[in-house]
Amino acid sequence: MTKPQTTTDACYPLLEMDLKKLRRNVEEVVNRCGAMGINVAGVIKGCNGLPEAAEQFKLGGCAQIATSRLEQIEDAKAYGIEGPFMLIRVPMLTEIPRMVQLANYSLHSERSVIDAADAECSRQGKKHKVVVMADLGDLREGFWDKEELFDVCLHIENDLNNLELAGVGTNLGCYGSVKPTPEKLSELVDIAERVEAAIGRKLEIISGGATSSFTLVHFGTMPKRINHLRIGENILLARDLQTDWGIKDMDYLAMDVYTLKAAVIEVKDKPSHPVGEIFMDAFGNFPTYTDRGIRRRALLALGKVDLADICRLLPRAEGIEVLGGSSDHTILDIEDNKDNIQVGDILEFDLNYTTMVFLTNSKSVTLKLIR
Ligand SMILES: *Cc1c(COP(=O)(O)O)cnc(C)c1O
Repeated sequence: MTKPQTTTDACYPLLEMDLKKLRRNVEEVVNRCGAMGINVAGVIKGCNGLPEAAEQFKLGGCAQIATSRLEQIEDAKAYGIEGPFMLIRVPMLTEIPRMVQLANYSLHSERSVIDAADAECSRQGKKHKVVVMADLGDLREGFWDKEELFDVCLHIENDLNNLELAGVGTNLGCYGSVKPTPEKLSELVDIAERVEAAIGRKLEIISGGATSSFTLVHFGTMPKRINHLRIGENILLARDLQTDWGIKDMDYLAMDVYTLKAAVIEVKDKPSHPVGEIFMDAFGNFPTYTDRGIRRRALLALGKVDLADICRLLPRAEGIEVLGGSSDHTILDIEDNKDNIQVGDILEFDLNYTTMVFLTNSKSVTLKLIR
């Protein structure tokens, strides 16, 4: 808990982002991957593509700056970051012209889109590199039919003059919750080697996934030929693997790049169960409430408008529990906290991926960069 120095000291909610800690995380991930012959595409979408963060990814040694949103590449370029840039959401047909203009690499899973990209490159007089995605069971993007994937790779290699087949890739642990394992990633290596045999050259990129695939780097079990990962969360937050996966010896990555500071606007003892006929909350839900008697509660000036999922906030102080809230309020149980929390106090929170994404996109949150 901190006390605001003066009333004009800062605008709350305040999101602090420590760029030095971010840079150390970038370097730890890049160096550990590098030792195994793996390049890292630094994925900036988790912090709304903040150019100052993208700069740390670049300075820390990422091979590409990657994001799902072209406007974030545009911002990074305008800020002066050189790239190369990688678009990691398979593109909309309508964004092909801007993709060719802004990105150097992109991921693909549709032949018609690849053909459109080639035609657009020809119009703009540009070359562009593509990574063809294989769906290995997570059931998001990628070719399910591997014969189709080989045909498309050969088509790019032999028929298209403006696109370069940079390689193949996969995505795991997103929609289908499929765990990256040495066996799964060996499937990708097999696909890559079949493509290489057909085109008679080595591929530049065999891209084995995102943060969840970093586990194989950490444990030293990555199949040898995987030479590329696209990593965001494990650099920006580094929480999924250490907390949700329960990996204990990853403390070389800082989990406190961000600090959210929010102001207390009410402190009172109140019943823990609502009083009256229980019906519906502000969002059309019918929640249940546990009666724990009279408890001390605090209200924060921070709500679902700012971060969607307030229950995922992680209070730094002991004895604070996030009960819920509404669009503009967060309700805390502070009965077990020993800090004598008062109106005007500022409480600190750690973030998870969802709260990071929303807070870095919210106009009503002040962002403070620590350099
Ligand atoms: C978001 C994304 C990533 C990065 O995921 P993290 O879990 O943040 O590391 C990598 N690849 C693709 C295709 C993505 O959409």
